[in-house]
Amino acid sequence: MPESKYKFETITNHLITSGFMYPSSQIYGGISNTWDYGPLGANMKTHLKEVWRRHFVLEKMNIFLIDPAIIMNPKTWEATGHVANFSDPLIDCKYCHTRYRADDLIKKQHPELDVDNMTKDEMNKLVEEEKLSCPNCGKSTFTPIRQFQLMFKTSIGVTEDKASLVYLRPETAQGIFVNFKNVQRTQRAKLPFGICDIGKAFRNEITPGNFTFRTREFEQMEIEFFTKPDQDLEYFNYWKKECLDFVERIGLRKDYLRYRDHEPNELAFYSKATTDIEYYFPSLGWGELMGIASRTNYDLSRHMEYSKEDLTYLDPETNQRYIPHVIEPSFGLDRLLLALLCDSYDEENLGNDTRIVMHLNKHLAPYQIAIFPLSNKLANQAQEEVYKLLCKNFELIFDTTGSIGKRYRRQDAIGTPYCITYDFDSVNDNSVTIRERDSMQQTRVKISELKDYLTKLFEE
Ligand code: ATP
Repeated sequence: MPESKYKFETITNHLITSGFMYPSSQIYGGISNTWDYGPLGANMKTHLKEVWRRHFVLEKMNIFLIDPAIIMNPKTWEATGHVANFSDPLIDCKYCHTRYRADDLIKKQHPELDVDNMTKDEMNKLVEEEKLSCPNCGKSTFTPIRQFQLMFKTSIGVTEDKASLVYLRPETAQGIFVNFKNVQRTQRAKLPFGICDIGKAFRNEITPGNFTFRTREFEQMEIEFFTKPDQDLEYFNYWKKECLDFVERIGLRKDYLRYRDHEPNELAFYSKATTDIEYYFPSLGWGELMGIASRTNYDLSRHMEYSKEDLTYLDPETNQRYIPHVIEPSFGLDRLLLALLCDSYDEENLGNDTRIVMHLNKHLAPYQIAIFPLSNKLANQAQEEVYKLLCKNFELIFDTTGSIGKRYRRQDAIGTPYCITYDFDSVNDNSVTIRERDSMQQTRVKISELKDYLTKLFEE
């Protein structure tokens, strides 16, 4: 891939200064790799969730959205294997104290090795024998590898004893599996059908970073699609295509997207197939946006075993009872949002001027329309005649400060697709000027026709 036109840092600086994201608890010096979404980022996140819900729930006939709790019965995480296995190998440089994931360190210096299938002892031996060096200081003095549990622990109740130990969920998917029977029964759902959710997940990542690409608290949008056992691979291919269609539909450039099929030796033992969709991030290169995994009947079987509840499905056509298989399309909301922001960022040369413009999909941009009274003297009329007319149907921003040119630039820089100017002629001809972000073309439209005109523009 050619190097991206803009540096990752240039884009993230723009996102911070314009109000998409801020360093979390900034007045206290922040907290490492933790970000708050500002007004623009929070709006965009809401829109992205809505567009995702439209694509995967409203436009499908058989997907149910639920909203399970973040703190679950801790037995859930014993059943899934997270308590025993959800950990990363951690290693520290004894000289400069930089901390690494041992598997990442080895992969970078020995890409030919199959690190995913190495034991801790094998990795320790390799670090020592090959004299791996610290990328920060160059020394080869590492601590032994320790397994580091990625789930955040907390406790419920008034005492902090072991009985009340609980975890913050490291993925949203398990809230779906434990509700499989509830949803199937109450919604009279027949296979194949899906259950999905959107919500926060928490992982005590060893190496968070690259802005919101990897954080300890993030949002996921996950679907578990339950099928007859012999139909799982057919639906795996269906969801692979659906997910790529979705990321293209929301505007990511096709040539910056690719599938990465997992090799057989990378697959979890219960998975028949897994594919990631990757995006080519500026400065960072290819990074996973989301994954699609065939998980057979592993999760439901484990929950059956640990809960002793019957999670089988009685097939009304064949009268057979079986444990459904599942395909899991799992999106990371924050990463997807970051990819969209990187993808849309542009600095355009306009001859005697340059503008920063975010060519965002108009359904995702923080605001749909900006309204400008040409002069402060017109603010009341613009508010009464235009803002009030449109505010129930569109997401608006009302801006009265600076020249119109400056106001256009401000909106371009945050991706607002349309700007409306109410000028002195508007008072007499009852019309306003609509200016489009990408083409910068201007059109005069009667206020009486404005709502229909804009509705059509957003139907595209
Ligand atoms: P990675 O290999 O990047 O750690 P993963 O394979 O562990 O990701 P999954 O468990 O498959 O990730 O989670 C699904 C999606 O959730 C990922 O594709 C990613 O978009 C998002 N995600 C996972 N971990 C994080 C994180 N720490 N910060 C932000 N997003 C994350």
